[in-house]
Amino acid sequence: MRAELNAHVGIVGGGPAGAAAALALAREGLRVLLLDAGKPNDFKLGEGLPPGARPLLRDLGVLEHVLNGGHLPSYANVSAWGSPNLHSTDFIFHLSGHGWHLDRARFDASLRQAATSAGAEVRQEAAVTRVEQEADGWHLSIESGGNVSEVRCDWLIDATGRRAAIARRYGAIRQHADALVAFFARFRPGARAAERDGRTLVEATPDGWWYTARIPSGERVVAYLTDADLADRARLLSPEGFMSALGETVHLQTVLSEHGYALHDRPRGADAGSARLDRFVGSGWLAAGDAALSFDPLSSQGITTALYTGMKAGQALAACLAGDRDALEGYAGHLATVHEAYWKNRSSSYGDERRWVNRPFWARRHRPE
Ligand SMILES: Cc1cc2nc3c(=O)[nH]c(=O)nc-3n(C[C@H](O)[C@H](O)[C@H](O)COP(=O)(O)OP(=O)(O)OC[C@H]3O[C@@H](n4cnc5c(N)ncnc54)[C@H](O)[C@@H]3O)c2cc1C
Repeated sequence: MRAELNAHVGIVGGGPAGAAAALALAREGLRVLLLDAGKPNDFKLGEGLPPGARPLLRDLGVLEHVLNGGHLPSYANVSAWGSPNLHSTDFIFHLSGHGWHLDRARFDASLRQAATSAGAEVRQEAAVTRVEQEADGWHLSIESGGNVSEVRCDWLIDATGRRAAIARRYGAIRQHADALVAFFARFRPGARAAERDGRTLVEATPDGWWYTARIPSGERVVAYLTDADLADRARLLSPEGFMSALGETVHLQTVLSEHGYALHDRPRGADAGSARLDRFVGSGWLAAGDAALSFDPLSSQGITTALYTGMKAGQALAACLAGDRDALEGYAGHLATVHEAYWKNRSSSYGDERRWVNRPFWARRHRPE
C-alpha cells in the first residue's frame, strides 16, 4: 500500500511525553504526526502533579490550560511512612505554590490540543500496528475506526509508555529494577457532606504501600503497590479481596469510611516498577517518557518527567535536524543523569521506612545497590 503522508517526525503515543515532543518539534516548524491509540475519555491512572511541574508547563506554554482545566488544587501530601502517625508535607512552602490532582484524560487531551494548535497533526484512536524501517525512513501502518492507512516519516519518537514498543522492537532492552505492581480502583463518595480534602494520603504496610487521592470527578483513586511475586493477584483483583486488603490499613480505611466511599469499579492491575532502557536513542529513533524511564509512583514524578523528556527529545531532534551532531548524544546523556538522580531519591524515600526491614518488600529496597 502506498504511504499517504510524509512527516519529518512520527510520534507514537499521545500521553504527556508524546504531546510535549510534538509541541517542541511543531514549534520548530517541523512536520509532525502524533498518533495515539487511546480513547479520549478513558480513565487513566496517575493523577498527582506536584508544584514543581509549574515552570515546565509554563515553558511548554500550557500552564493556562492546566490552571483552567477543572483540575483540583493539591496543597499537601500526608503520609504514615516510617511511623504509624501521619506526617504532612505542605506545598504552601513550595516556591511554585500548590500542585494538582488531575483529570488525566482531560489533562492529556489538553496537551494534544496544544500540539495541534502549534501545527502538529494529531490522530486520536489511531493505533500503530506495524513499524518498518526502510532505506527512505519509517513506514507505519495505522489502524483507526476499522481502516488501515500507511504513513512514512524520517524519524520516530517512541512515547508508547511502559511498553516502549518501538525501542524494544529495534533492539533496546528495558532494564527492570524491581517488579512493583499497582492494584487500583475508584471509589464514589456516599450521600454525606462532600469532602474537600485535596491531599494525597500515603500509608506504608508490611508488604507494600497504599495511596488515595481525590480526583475532579469527586471520586477517590485507591491503589495498593507491592511486588508481583508477593501479591495475591486473584484476591486483589476481586472487589471482596481488594476491600479486605484495604481493611488492613489504618488511615486509608478511616478516610474512606468517614465519607461513606464505596467501591465503584472492578479493581485493576498495572505495572508500576522502576525501569529504564539500556539506550535512549537508536538509528532513526528516540525514546521519551515512560518508554525511556519509568518511575515508582511514590516519586510522583512520572508525568513531570514524561513532559520534560518529551520536550527535550523534541528539542534535541530539532537541533539534530538543523545540523547539531551532538544533540542526540546530549539527550541520551541527560536522561542517564535524570535516572541517576531519580535512583538516589528512590533509595532515600524507601530508606525512611524501617518498620518492616525483614519483610521481603522492604528488605529488597534497603539493599545497597
Ligand atoms: C499506580 C500508578 C500511579 C501513578 N501516579 C502518578 C502520579 O500521581 N503522578 C505522576 O506524575 N505520575 C504518576 N504515575 C506515572 C504516570 O502516569 C506516567 O509516568 C505517565 O503517564 C507517563 O507518560 P507517557 O506519555 O510517557 O506515557 P503514557 O501516559 O503511558 O502514554 C502512552 C500513550 O501511548 C499510547 N500508545 C501505546 N502504544 C501505542 C501504539 N502502538 N499506537 C498508538 N498509541 C500507542 C497509549 O495509548 C498512551 O496514550 C503513576 C503510575 C502508576 C502505575
